[in-house]
Amino acid sequence: MGRKLAAGNWKMNGLNASLKEAQALAEMFPAPKVDILLCPPATLVASMAAALAHTKIDVGGQDCHMKTSGAHTGDISAEMLADAGADYVILGHSERRADHGETDAVVCEKTMAAVMAGLKPVVCVGETLAQREAGETLEIIRHQLSASLPDAVDLSKLVVAYEPVWAIGTGKIPTLEQIAEVHDDIRATLTARYGDTANDVPLLYGGSVKPGNAAEIFATSNVDGALVGGASLKAADFAGIITALE
Ligand code: PEP
Repeated sequence: MGRKLAAGNWKMNGLNASLKEAQALAEMFPAPKVDILLCPPATLVASMAAALAHTKIDVGGQDCHMKTSGAHTGDISAEMLADAGADYVILGHSERRADHGETDAVVCEKTMAAVMAGLKPVVCVGETLAQREAGETLEIIRHQLSASLPDAVDLSKLVVAYEPVWAIGTGKIPTLEQIAEVHDDIRATLTARYGDTANDVPLLYGGSVKPGNAAEIFATSNVDGALVGGASLKAADFAGIITALE
């Protein structure tokens, strides 16, 4: 198994004052046994990367454009994120897919752009409730993986996050059996396509992870960490999740 990763997605939350949460987290984990990542809104990437430069906490963006530069008002390139001090970028989050119409093909291009810029892409996949109830979960996720990931990708940089859309921000989580079924299938899909090196790609579960449910989720087959929304905003909450992963 590869590295373990606790990743926080602050979404559109956080002002400069929130940097103190990141600094508090860094003080709690001077020598963490797992990788820790915080993805603040784009306005905070540079200041957070500077504030955490001498800590063990990495910083990431929540999206990037597929092009390196040009006439794309409001967008940020992977290169710009890297220049601001980011190490990672979340791509294909279901909120981006829903709010901005991001397709698998777009996510694939962004993933290539991220790798070219030296960032580690955290590529998100996950089914809607209707798709789960129709028994289509594995088929949907296999298709998302096939179309969102490029053929040539540096597997030592890649992270995949399984985030059931219906579990994000809802307090609902799949059963542990359902999580294991999907994570095992993602692992099998990746190794079938890329070979045994894909055994080391961290597979994160995301969707209503809290300090109280983290340990059982992390004990589940092929779960190497979590992508955490709400519970990553406060250092004390995220610390509980990180400790469960260590
Ligand atoms: C997320 O948005 O990636 C997420 C998992 O959110 P939450 O933890 O709040 O469900």
